[in-house]
Amino acid sequence: MKRRDLATWGGITLGAIGAGLAIKSFLPQRFMSPAPWHEQKVQAPTLDTSTMPQIDVAFLRCGSVTIPECIAVRGAFSLAPRTIAYSGVLIRHPQATFLYDTGLSYDIHTYIADTSLLFRKTLGSFLFVQSINSHLAHAGMTSHDLQFALLSHLHWDHVSGIPDLPGVPLRINRVEYEAAKLGLLDSNGGLVRRLMGNNPIELFDCAGPTYEGFRSSLDLFGDGSIILVPLPGHTPGQVGMFINRSNGPRLFLLGDAAWINENYLRPATMHPFIWSAVTADDATARQTLIDLHLFALQHPEVSLIGMHDANMQEHFMAIEQAGMSRAKAT
Ligand SMILES: [Zn+2]
Repeated sequence: MKRRDLATWGGITLGAIGAGLAIKSFLPQRFMSPAPWHEQKVQAPTLDTSTMPQIDVAFLRCGSVTIPECIAVRGAFSLAPRTIAYSGVLIRHPQATFLYDTGLSYDIHTYIADTSLLFRKTLGSFLFVQSINSHLAHAGMTSHDLQFALLSHLHWDHVSGIPDLPGVPLRINRVEYEAAKLGLLDSNGGLVRRLMGNNPIELFDCAGPTYEGFRSSLDLFGDGSIILVPLPGHTPGQVGMFINRSNGPRLFLLGDAAWINENYLRPATMHPFIWSAVTADDATARQTLIDLHLFALQHPEVSLIGMHDANMQEHFMAIEQAGMSRAKAT
């Protein structure tokens, strides 16, 4: 065979392999055989929350980006637009008013301006909606009314509201903070370190007993109402938060363990191109998705909501606001 023919066939073969890999990346990924999951589809006993305190919860959307469903969920053969939200959660417990994650500050773009062009055009590109400070003002509050902000993990988009919250203590899982000091704090031109500023840092450990099938826990106020559990993989020390209350349904905030609910319902990761860019440990993160999948099957009464899941957050807020107006009317 002539050299030119060889080059042509080589090119065609490489192209075919490349196209094959590209197509494969959109196909569903096998997690484990479905049989054992089916056996687990038994509703577990529901927690009696009648003696829990009243806790108000509000998702505060600060920004968003729209992506095709096949990017948010691997194996979803759909280009339907899905909204990825950038939110903080305002939680009003009798013992403390605090945030779970911090949304975006009003000057977030000045922080992002110092990152690479690639970052600004990909992960750092979003539509700004409203700053966390402006949301607090709308609720008749300032950052001084917050006792602390608890961070699900230390990716930039979860700490981006901190410049609006000067002096507010940051509660961080020790595992997450120690791991971030090895690289994450200083990546993208030190973006996370700059966003965290001089706010005091209060480290905690999820060193309590297993909780709802998760390996360990921390009962934040000692009353069983706010329980933190490790959801590792996306980052080493990511924490989810159960909210058990008497004035509304149980909630489970997932950080970024799932972007949208299909990720734990199927379960399925995001498209591998994004998943590999944002995931610290692939195998651990997929195990966490399986844990969430099993929990969701056994607890249909609990709302599992990811911090980027615009649909679920809107749905929750609609029910929450209807409940509040009902309570006011009676
Ligand atoms: Zn995120």
